[in-house]
Amino acid sequence: MPQYDFDFFVIGGGSGGTRASRIAAAHGARVGVAEERYLGGTCVNVGCVPKKLFVYASHFPEEAGDAAGFGWDPIPANAVRHDWGKLIANKNAEIARLNGIYRRLIEGAGAKIFDKRAKLRDAHTLELVDPKLPHAPAEIVTADKILIATGGWPTKPDIPGGELGITSNECFFLERFPERVLVVGGGYIAVEFAGIFHGFGAAVTQIYRGDRFLRGFDGDCRAFLAEEMRKKGVDLRFRADIAGIEQTGDGLAAALKDGHTVHCDAVMFATGRAPLTRNLGLEAAGVALDGKGAIAVDAGWRTSVPNIFAIGDVTDRLNLTPVAIAEGHALADALFNPSGRSVSYENVPTCVFSQPNLGTVGLTEEDAAKRHGAVDIYRATFRPMKHTLSGRDEQTMMKLVVDRASQKVVGLHIVGPDAGEIVQGFAVAIKMGATKKDFDATIGIHPTAAEELVTMRTKASGPWQAPVRKAAE
Ligand code: FAD
Ligand code: NDP
Repeated sequence: MPQYDFDFFVIGGGSGGTRASRIAAAHGARVGVAEERYLGGTCVNVGCVPKKLFVYASHFPEEAGDAAGFGWDPIPANAVRHDWGKLIANKNAEIARLNGIYRRLIEGAGAKIFDKRAKLRDAHTLELVDPKLPHAPAEIVTADKILIATGGWPTKPDIPGGELGITSNECFFLERFPERVLVVGGGYIAVEFAGIFHGFGAAVTQIYRGDRFLRGFDGDCRAFLAEEMRKKGVDLRFRADIAGIEQTGDGLAAALKDGHTVHCDAVMFATGRAPLTRNLGLEAAGVALDGKGAIAVDAGWRTSVPNIFAIGDVTDRLNLTPVAIAEGHALADALFNPSGRSVSYENVPTCVFSQPNLGTVGLTEEDAAKRHGAVDIYRATFRPMKHTLSGRDEQTMMKLVVDRASQKVVGLHIVGPDAGEIVQGFAVAIKMGATKKDFDATIGIHPTAAEELVTMRTKASGPWQAPVRKAAE
C-alpha cells in the first residue's frame, strides 16, 4: 500500500503544471493535477494565445491600406466594419478547443485532473475545493511530492477610482469595443495592447512613468519602437503617470500626475503581475517567499520545504510560457526519470508582439558593454521592401552586438514585421556561440529583411537617433 494517494501532485494546470504532470505521468508516477479556473492557464486563456489572435485581427486594416500601392482599388473606410462580438466568440471557441486538448493531453498521459482549487494543509496534504461550491467539504488528498505552478495575476496601482480600470484579463472579454483607450504601463502587455487597440481604430494614449518604455530591452530598439508607434498614431507619453479615474457622462476621465486629463472609454492597467500565492496554505506547509513575494526556489526548483517544488510565474523569474514549460519538463525528469535535462536561462529569445514586433536574443548593447567591456555594434535601419510600393512610412531596425575580443555575437535585436519568427531561428546560432565571421559566411535569402543580419559590414558609432519630425506630423 503506497504511503500517499499520489507520487506527485501539481497545483495549477497552466503552461508549467501541464507539462510537468504529463511528463511525470509518462515516467510512471501517479499524478494528480488541480486546476481551479481554466486548463492551459494564463497563456491559453488570457495570455499569449488570445493576445496573438488579437494582434492578427487588429493588423488587417493596415494590410488593406497597404494594398492600394500594389494596384488594388483602395477600400473606402466605411465599406468595412469590424464585428468585435464575432472576434470574441471565435476566439472563445478556439480557446475552448484548446482547453479540451489540454484535458486530453493530461488525462491521456495517465494523470488525474481535479477541477478544484488546491490549498496546502501541510507538506504532504492538500485540501481540494470546488470553486463553484466553496462551502462544500474539502476533498483531502496526500502526495509524496508537490509542485506549485499557480502562475501570476495582474496588479493595479492603488489610486482613487482604480476599480474603474481594467487589466488584460478583462480586455479579452469586453462586450463593447472602446473607441478611446488609455493604456497605463510600459512593459510587454502595455505595448502589445496599445498596438492592438490602435490597430482596431481606437484613439490610444499610452503613458509610462519612466524615461523610455520596455525597461531591460536594448536602448536603440526601445527608442526606435517608440518612434514607429508614434508614427502610426499612438499618443505615447513618457514620464507620465496616472493619479486617479472618475466616471463622467460619456466615459472616464483619467487624471495624470502632470495635471493633464485623458478622456476615454477604458483605462487599461498593464502595470505588472504578481505571483499567485494567496490562500495557498504556504505558511501551513512552511514554504518561504522571497523579498518580492514570489516563491523562493533553488537551482532545482525546490522550495524551503524539501518535497515541495515551484516553477513558472509564481517564482517570478523569466515569466514566459516556454520557460515555464522547460522548467516543468526538467523537474518531472529530475524527479522521476533523471535524464540530465536542464534549463538554461542564458540567451532566452523573446518577442514583444508590438506593431511592429520587437524580437531579441542575448544581451542588450548596455548589458554587453558591462559584461564584456568593448563591443562592436552593427546596426541597420531600412524601409522594408513591401513599403516601397505601399508607401507606408515604416522602418525596420536590425542590430548585432558583438563581443570585440571573442567576436561572438552576444546580442541580436530586431524591430520589424515578424521579428519573433526571425529571432527564433537566429537564437540557435547565438546559443551555439556563433561569431560575426559565422554570420558573414552565411549566404542570405534574397529578398528578405532577415538577410540584413548576414550582410552587415559597417560598425555603428553612437546610439540610434530618431529623425527630427516636423511639428505638424
Ligand atoms: P499559468 O499559465 O498562469 O498557470 C497557472 C494556473 O494555476 C492557472 O490556470 C490558475 O488558474 C491555476 N491556479 C492558481 N492557483 C490555483 C490553486 N490554488 N488551485 C488550483 N489551480 C490554481 N508568454 C510568452 O512566452 N509569450 C507571450 O506572447 C505571452 N503573452 C502574454 C500575454 C498576456 C496578456 C499575459 C498576461 C501573459 C503572457 N505571457 C506570454 C506570459 C505567460 O502567459 C506566462 O509566463 C505563463 O502562462 C506562465 O505559466 P505558469 O504555468 O507559470 O502559470
Ligand atoms: P511588466 O513587468 O513587463 O511591465 C509592467 C509595467 O508597468 C512597467 O513598465 C512598469 O514600470 C509599470 N508599472 C508598474 N507599476 C506601476 C505603477 N504603480 N504605476 C505605473 N506604472 C507601473 O509587466 P506586464 O504586465 O507587461 O507583463 C507581465 C509579464 O508577462 C512580462 O514581464 C512578461 O514576462 C510576460 N509577458 C510576455 C509577453 C511576451 O512574451 N510577448 C507578453 C505579455 C506578457 P517600470 O518599468 O518603471 O517598473
